[in-house]
Formats: sequence, structure tokens, C-alpha cells
Amino acid sequence: MKSEKDRHRKPLERSDNVVPDYDHLFDETESKSGKKKKNFLGKILRINRVPLITSTLLFLIQTSPQWLTPLFIANIINAVTRAVTQGVTDGVWSTIILNASLMFVLILQNVPSTILRWKITSKMSRRMSAGIKSAVVRKLQSLSITYHKNMQTGKIQAKFLKDTEAVDSLFHNVIHGLIPSIFTVIVALAISIYTNPLVSLFFLVIVPANVLLTWAFRKKLRKTYRDYRVKTEEMSAKMTTMLNMMTVTKSHGLENVEIATLNRSITSLAGSGRQVDKVTANFGAWTWVIPAIFSAACVVFCSIMAYYGIIGIGDIVLYQSMFTQISGAISSLVNLVPAFGSGLEALSSVGEVMNAKEIEVNIGKAHVENIEGNVQFKNVSYHYPDSEQFVVKDLNLDVKKGECIAVVGASGSGKSTIMNLIIGFMMPTSGEITIDGKSIKEFNLSEYRHHISVVPQNSILFAGSIRDNITYGLSHYTEEQLNKVVEMANLQEFIKDLPNGIDSDIGEHGDKLSGGQKQRITIARALIRDPKILILDEATSALDNISEYHVQKAIASSIRGRTTFIVAHRLSTIRDADRIVVMEQGVPVEIGSYSELMDKKGKFYELKALNEMNLKTAEESLG
Ligand code: ADP
Ligand code: MG
Repeated sequence: MKSEKDRHRKPLERSDNVVPDYDHLFDETESKSGKKKKNFLGKILRINRVPLITSTLLFLIQTSPQWLTPLFIANIINAVTRAVTQGVTDGVWSTIILNASLMFVLILQNVPSTILRWKITSKMSRRMSAGIKSAVVRKLQSLSITYHKNMQTGKIQAKFLKDTEAVDSLFHNVIHGLIPSIFTVIVALAISIYTNPLVSLFFLVIVPANVLLTWAFRKKLRKTYRDYRVKTEEMSAKMTTMLNMMTVTKSHGLENVEIATLNRSITSLAGSGRQVDKVTANFGAWTWVIPAIFSAACVVFCSIMAYYGIIGIGDIVLYQSMFTQISGAISSLVNLVPAFGSGLEALSSVGEVMNAKEIEVNIGKAHVENIEGNVQFKNVSYHYPDSEQFVVKDLNLDVKKGECIAVVGASGSGKSTIMNLIIGFMMPTSGEITIDGKSIKEFNLSEYRHHISVVPQNSILFAGSIRDNITYGLSHYTEEQLNKVVEMANLQEFIKDLPNGIDSDIGEHGDKLSGGQKQRITIARALIRDPKILILDEATSALDNISEYHVQKAIASSIRGRTTFIVAHRLSTIRDADRIVVMEQGVPVEIGSYSELMDKKGKFYELKALNEMNLKTAEESLG
């Protein structure tokens, strides 16, 4: 069982284990032509240029035996053939010994240089990977509730887990594939041009041939990878939905419907995957065949040249192994193209999150040290961005600190929207909300929200103990504070009977508890922060009468001394509110105290009558 202390204990970090901050790397830069560019890869490589250059140099040293041993071997073979065929035995032994010793030294240095290079590259790429993951997490936390409501959780999970992994392997490919292969080609070409320009012509044609080939496949590869990525995200989203709906699905016997839905997605993903395999196979075949043909032609050509005595026999070996090196490097470059395709695709997918604009800008906003709790609505109207219909219209309300305001109305009349406007999840389309006279728009919302607490209709609990759930996110609290809110939330009776008391485990999402118990934990969580503004959005609507009674008692004791907004279905629960706002299709049709509204015999009166009738029928049906 995790205690609060574990939750907040920071791991001991060594200085080279600190996660780098890559947030700014995702910023789009404007190019000269005015086009928005997202050159993340370029920027991250530039930041890491020192380890990149060091590791490339080490790579050259590490692999130097590959291109230098053919030279030594050619020297040895040439000396030996001269001795055997022409009887030139002078210095054969010294040539053999010199070349052989150089070769062994070169080969042996591979061990330390390889280890050192891996050490450098591993540190660099692990840091890059951690930096990106942590940038995504920070970004997700800064994105607004509206963004998260529109984005399916499963898609984000796919982006986080799968795409950051693909980005990791992109880095791996750059560090261990792209850069080394380019250098191999350059070095091998340099050596062959230096030793024999004629043969190097062969090597030169193979480069453009492969470039053309890659060009031909480029679009197709890119398209199939994108398709595959999008389908993977969709399936992941469907999977999450399926798991969330499990209780509903099972209780309605809809297992087959879900299976069919998921199967469609799985089949479509498999089809897309086959497409990827097909394109990759085609591409792979051609990238092998073309260099193989050139290689065979090169041996024939060199043998003819050796026959006419233009080059030595040993040189055939030299050029052949040069050719193998070059074409090997080129085909590994070319084979990187598909991997690059999926890596860049993943990067753009992560970029989608990183460049999402629905963020709450809190930087540079006024600090909110403390608030008193005076809330004023000045002509506040709101409609969602995707619709013209106002869901709150011309709300005027001046709430003094410590007041209790109830908002009532039919479902869909805009009650939750008003609450969300107070929390600052959305900003009014027109009009203004002020807290202690200052517009909410000027606040650092994150700091502002330290002073408000929200109890939603569905309690959101996580796996852990009751204590963990109540003290969520708090680094300091005293047992006294905890006991006080437990009492206010009317939880003490319930906790007393548990085997581990307040440290009892509540299961995932609090599945081991009743609705009322869960809701009272949520109330305790809201209260332990001693908020200046408390928002209860249908906190009792999902409860049975007994639970509601308990929660109601909890609410009554918790509203004292703070500004409270209560949205309630059961009108009996709001009798004690200072003022009641009656909403009808976004319009505040009546505002006043309970007795005022009852005397007025208007909308509230009607609503109340309807409510009591419903209650009566419900009670009758219960017996
Ligand atoms: P209440 O809490 O009174 O039941 P809400 O404030 O939740 O009502 O919703 C008011 C209206 O806004 C409803 O008509 C609802 O359909 C609409 N609405 C709620 N959320 C969104 C959204 N994210 N996008 C578009 N319309 C929404
Ligand atoms: Mg609501």
C-alpha cells in the first residue's frame, strides 16, 4: 500500500540523470518563406552536438579496421603473389609482419572504442527519450479540460507509449545508422578514389541509383505508415472505451456488439499492417538487388583489369571489400528509410499534442496568493466553440463571500456550464466574471484553483487508501486537519468499522465503496484544502435516500464560512441557500431567496411542486 509520503518522495537523482527540458524544441519556427516549420529533429540534434560529434569520431576509430584491413590484406596478397609469380622475395616477410601487426592493433582497439561510444550514445539517447516523455506529460497537464474532453484517452495513451518509443528508435537510427553510414560511405569513397579513381566510378553510380530508388518509394512508404499509425490510435481509443463500458456492456448482454466493433478495428488495422509489410518487402527486395548487381559487375571489371596487369590480384580483394562496405552502408541507409518514415510519423504525432493550442496560459498572469471569495457575474454569456447556441445567457449575479448560492433547473439548462465558468475551465464568450473585483481572465488559473474545491456528481477516486484519496496532492497536512474533515464529511462512523481504518484500501476507482461513501470521501478531499469557494455539482444526485441524508449532513457542515455554489436536483436540499438561481435553457429566469421565490409562485414554485410530486410517486412506488 502506498502512503502519502511515498507518493511525494522524489527519487534520488544523479546530476546526469536529470531530465532535460525539451518543451521549447517543439515550438514552430517561421522560415524565410513564412512557412511554419517544425524542425524538432534538427533542434534536438543540435543541442546534443557535442556527444554526437564525439560518438561519430569514436565510430570512425571503432570501425577503422573495416576499411583499413582490406588495405593491409591487399598489401600482403600483392607481396605474396609477386614473390610466387615473379620471384620478387625481397621484403616479403617484413611486409607481412608490418601489415599483420598493424591489423591486429587496429582490430583490438575496437573493444575500448566500442564500449566508450555506447556509453556516450546511450546516455544521450536515454536523456532525449526522457526529455520528450516529460515534455508530453507537462503539455498534457497544461492543456485545457476542453482539449481533454475532445481527445480520447486511448489516443493520448497510444501517442505517449507507442509514439515516444518510435521516436526513441528514430534517435537510435540517427545515432547508430544514419550518421555512421554516411561516414562509412564518405571514407570508403575517399579511400577508393585515392587508390584507383577508375574503380571508384563504380561506387559512384551506386549512390544515385539508390537515391532514385528511395525517391520512388518515399511517398508510398510515408502514406502507409501514416495510415497504420492513425488506425493504431483509433484501435487504442476503442479499446479504452470498451474497458470503460464493461459494466454497461455486460449488464445489457452486449458483449457481441463490442467484440464486433473491436474486430472491425482490428481487421482494419491488420489490413493496414499488411500494406505496410508489402511496401516494405518491395522496397527491401529492390534495395538488395541493385547493389548486388553492381557488386558482381565490379568483381568482373576488377578481374579483367587484373588480367591485363592494370591492378594487382590483391587489389581485387581490396575493391571488392570496399564495394561491400559502401553498398552495405548505402543499403543500411536505404533500409533506414521505412524506419525513418515511421519515426518521423511518430514525431509528428507527438508534435500534434505538443503544438495543440488549447492551453491555459498561466505564465505572466497575476499571482493568486489568497482570495476572499466574492464572485461577480457581469452580463456573462457563453456558447461552446462548436455551436452558436448560448448555453448561458446574460447572467448577472453578485455573490458576497460566505454566501451560498443554489442553481436549479432542468437537465441541460446550463448549470454545470456556470460551475465550469467559475472554475475557469472556459472563459465567458461575453461579459466578465470577477473574483474579489478582479477579472478571472487575468489570473494564474492554476494558483486560483488552489483556493476552490469541486465535488462533481461522479466521485473520481483512485486505487489507494481513504487517506491517500482525501489528501490527494497535498504535501503537508496534520492528523488533526484530516480528522476534522473526516468528521465534517460524516465519514467517522464508516471509517471506524473498517479493519485498517482510514488506511483501508478502496480498490480501483473506489469500487469497494458505496456511492454515498465515495461521495463523502470526495467531500472530505474538497474540504481539507479549506477552500474559499466550494462547488457542489449535483453532489447528491446519484445517491439513494439514506446516502443522500449522510452526504447532505456533510454538505451542511461544510458550507459554513465559504462561498458555496450548489447545483441540486432535489429542491429540498437547497432550502437554506441564501439565493437560488433558476435556469431555463441557459437563461437565469428567477433569482431570489427560497421564501421570495415561493411567494412569487413563478418558475421555482412550479419546479418545486413538480419535484414533490415526483418524490411522492417515488415514495409510493417504494412502498
Ligand atoms: P446542466 O448541468 O444544467 O445539465 P450543462 O451546463 O451541462 O447543463 O449543459 C448545457 C448545454 O450545453 C447542454 O445543452 C449541453 O448539451 C451543452 N454542452 C455541454 N457540454 C458541451 C460541450 N463540451 N460542447 C458542446 N455543448 C455542450
Ligand atoms: Mg450538469
